[in-house]
Amino acid sequence: MTSKQVTPPAGAVRLTPGAASGAVRPLPGVRITGGLLHHFRVRNSTATIPHTIEQLRAAGNVANLSRLLEQDPPPYRGRYPFLDTDLYKTLEGLAYDLGDGTAEEGVRDFYEEVVCLLERVQAGDGYLNSFFQDPAAAKKPWEDLAWGHELYTLGHLIQAAVAASRRMGDDRLLRVARRFADLVTERFAGGGIDGHPEVEMALVELYRETGERAYLDLAAAFIDRRGSGQLTHSIFPGDYFQDHVPFRELPSVTGHAVRMAYLAAGAADVLLETGDRTLEKALTRLWDDMVATKLYITGGLGSRHSDEAIGDRYELPSERAYAETCAAIALMQWAWRMFLATGGASYLDVFERVLYNAYAVGLSADGRAFFYDNPLQRRPDHAQRSEADGEPLRRAWFGCPCCPPNIVRWMAQLADYVAAERDGAVLIAQYATARVETAELDLDMATGYPWDGDVRLTVRRAPTGRYALALRVPGWARGATATVNGETWTGEPDGGWLTVERFWSPGDEVRLTLPMPVRAHGSHPYLDATRGAIALARGPIVYCVEQHDSPQAAVDDLLVGVPEALEAEIGRRDDLAPGAVVLNVTARTAPPPPPELYPELPAPDTSQPETQVPVTFVPYFLWGNRGPAAMRVWVRTPNTTNGKKAT
Ligand SMILES: [Zn+2]
Repeated sequence: MTSKQVTPPAGAVRLTPGAASGAVRPLPGVRITGGLLHHFRVRNSTATIPHTIEQLRAAGNVANLSRLLEQDPPPYRGRYPFLDTDLYKTLEGLAYDLGDGTAEEGVRDFYEEVVCLLERVQAGDGYLNSFFQDPAAAKKPWEDLAWGHELYTLGHLIQAAVAASRRMGDDRLLRVARRFADLVTERFAGGGIDGHPEVEMALVELYRETGERAYLDLAAAFIDRRGSGQLTHSIFPGDYFQDHVPFRELPSVTGHAVRMAYLAAGAADVLLETGDRTLEKALTRLWDDMVATKLYITGGLGSRHSDEAIGDRYELPSERAYAETCAAIALMQWAWRMFLATGGASYLDVFERVLYNAYAVGLSADGRAFFYDNPLQRRPDHAQRSEADGEPLRRAWFGCPCCPPNIVRWMAQLADYVAAERDGAVLIAQYATARVETAELDLDMATGYPWDGDVRLTVRRAPTGRYALALRVPGWARGATATVNGETWTGEPDGGWLTVERFWSPGDEVRLTLPMPVRAHGSHPYLDATRGAIALARGPIVYCVEQHDSPQAAVDDLLVGVPEALEAEIGRRDDLAPGAVVLNVTARTAPPPPPELYPELPAPDTSQPETQVPVTFVPYFLWGNRGPAAMRVWVRTPNTTNGKKAT
């Protein structure tokens, strides 16, 4: 099969997202053919998916379904009632590989086995959840809306079903999902919400797929029913569930990070279909406040291990960053929908920041191990922990394995976020070596992005009339230039877009140059955790230093000033990732610190001749692949060594 088979199944309605707002439309069917995103996709198909299938079988996710066919079912395996979602997320990813014909051997068998099981175990009324369907389960269906995750589970089922229908033309899962969705539409007509938002996005997509308005209305109702305090739990407070304040009145993103971002993404979907301006106002306010005060430099969201929660404004500790991988995925989903609703390029800037940092770091270089939380610093003693104390690096699987299959489905569909269209224009949202086709235009894009900022776009098939090619100029790219057939394009970037509008011919070539000097970043004065420290970035990539690459000094003793950072030499480390750019920096070493934890000021002068030491900064997303070691995104700067200026 090829991706050309992305056609609606018979009887499907397929509405265009955002039809109500008339804004930007997604452009699925882009094919990524080279570069880092292609490497990500191939690794997903050849390593992460086979590994995930193996882990799902071993952990009992498949057996949890098949046991329901037995007379006397053995007990449910696993602690959580939402383990079916790990199958659904995996199926969603598999739909892309099976649809494209890139799936490895055995993947089709797994897909068939699980789809057939789901068809068989679904209850007569449409209900489906292997935890609650067990006659011996401690709880009955719908008895525990705060913690049962039943609608969250339905959401992932719908998303897998829509992917299978669209990518493979296989409607079996869609029939299963609709039966459950219809039951839920009836059951929740009068009230009730799930403790874990997710189903909102899925219901809107099911509406787009089927044209059944009741799904959209229910999604909108789920957004607006929050804030009445109906979700109660013995451990978690109301804001954990975003149920303490009505969504439209939330002053700031809050509570459980993944819940918050899924809820906002679902609200953005409702906005796309209804054009509801008060919802847009609320979403914009929440987004702007989050970007200004609550997001890690990596795009990670969630500052607290406690409740997996978003913290207060400017509460962004490095070593205790939670920044769950699922929150990164949810944030990209939210960002993409805000872009569709508004055309705003800044949402895509955040999308790529998350993609290449907070999200990509969640997976090991070999594609078989995962971070659940993604700190920006590893202390030396934490790095030296034994496995028995809690592994210092990525793990093969988790008891709550929400992140690994979420990585799988997202890696599989990254091509859907490369481009979008608007009447008379194609918008390039992310740069990758790819083939981009709309009804009017067909072009090849070639680039070494994110390692270099040169992008070449060559027209294969030209539109008949004037047509615009809108190229995103990331906020970090100053002095971006473009040429058309070798001649300088005089248009200036406007609102993050450089638009080339003209009559086109096959063979026309646009070259975009996004300068990528090394950047040094500080932090807001209220952000105490990283005060006086510096972080290095280049293009969309945030860097870190691992102890492996600082042979002469502990990473905690390194001093890097702005001049040293900006003079970093570019190096290549293909052993870390194909084409990976590293930054070679001449750092200084700090004088020995005072022995006291809280020395009285002014501290004694411990200055000594500073030694210059060579260190290499590697892309943050590639840390933790060479054995445990201390790591820092934020390194000390020369003027804050021990409470007084050292220079
Ligand atoms: Zn997760």
